[in-house]
Amino acid sequence: MIWLEKPLKLEAPCVVGSSSPLSMLETNSIQMNFMIFLGTGGGGKVVFSQARASGGLYFNMDRVKFLIDPGPGSLVNMRSLKLKDPNGILLSHLHPDHSTDANMILDGLKNSFLIAEEHCLKISKRYYPCVSKYQQSLVKFLKPVKAGDVVKIPESEIRIEVTKADHYVPTVGFKIIGSKTIGYPCDGPYFSGQERQFEKCDAIIFNVLVPHGKVPMEHKHMSVDNVIAFLKKLEHKPELVIIQHFSFWMLKSNVHEQAKIIEKNAGIKTIAAKDFMKINLDLLKEEKSGLGRFV
Ligand SMILES: [Zn+2]
Ligand SMILES: [Zn+2]
Repeated sequence: MIWLEKPLKLEAPCVVGSSSPLSMLETNSIQMNFMIFLGTGGGGKVVFSQARASGGLYFNMDRVKFLIDPGPGSLVNMRSLKLKDPNGILLSHLHPDHSTDANMILDGLKNSFLIAEEHCLKISKRYYPCVSKYQQSLVKFLKPVKAGDVVKIPESEIRIEVTKADHYVPTVGFKIIGSKTIGYPCDGPYFSGQERQFEKCDAIIFNVLVPHGKVPMEHKHMSVDNVIAFLKKLEHKPELVIIQHFSFWMLKSNVHEQAKIIEKNAGIKTIAAKDFMKINLDLLKEEKSGLGRFV
């Protein structure tokens, strides 16, 4: 592990009414904790078509900015939306729809952190790392992780619990614990006990590729019915559920209807993410006035 030599340069707390020449968008961004979906498509076909964008998640939480799973388009979308440079990246696994832009983004960052499932970083018998050796050398705080690890983002109060996922390549999920607790089980179907890793979340973001009532030919991805089973078994349920990372199967099945099915069966407010949707993490609801203008 490479520990930080210098503190990460995090932003000063926001001053409301500041005269800084930030765009309205950025001014809003600094004033609150938020996340933005830089893409909501998942799997090779949707990503190749760009029927939905595929840039992963951008977080601005407790003055730390980070990306989760920056797939193709992450950098371009981040620039188009005039978002501030992230301080670091979380990578759940080495699939390209989750990781392609990581190298280029790390190339431009200074004092960055990278918390990544270990096969993203190390050569092994079956897998080749998705982050190059050179880009890894640029990172100030580099942390390969596996399920069960707990990592603190340097110079912050944010703790990341690394969770187990049952995908067909080595994959982890994340429970991000800051002023709000956000769960991201990542790719892979539900397995018994998975939900125990996500107790007491304020919101959970599910990657859902299989519609209600359908069973995939291969046991690779989360279904709507999996999400319902997961949520029903939770003792301490989240206030908000968001589904994303949609396949064509989901897109053809009306993702908003699919979200309603989850909401009705699990009794938890559920929304289907849209590209560039902004969620106010303080209020745990969609921010219509900010980036919503661009959707
Ligand atoms: Zn995926
Ligand atoms: Zn995957």
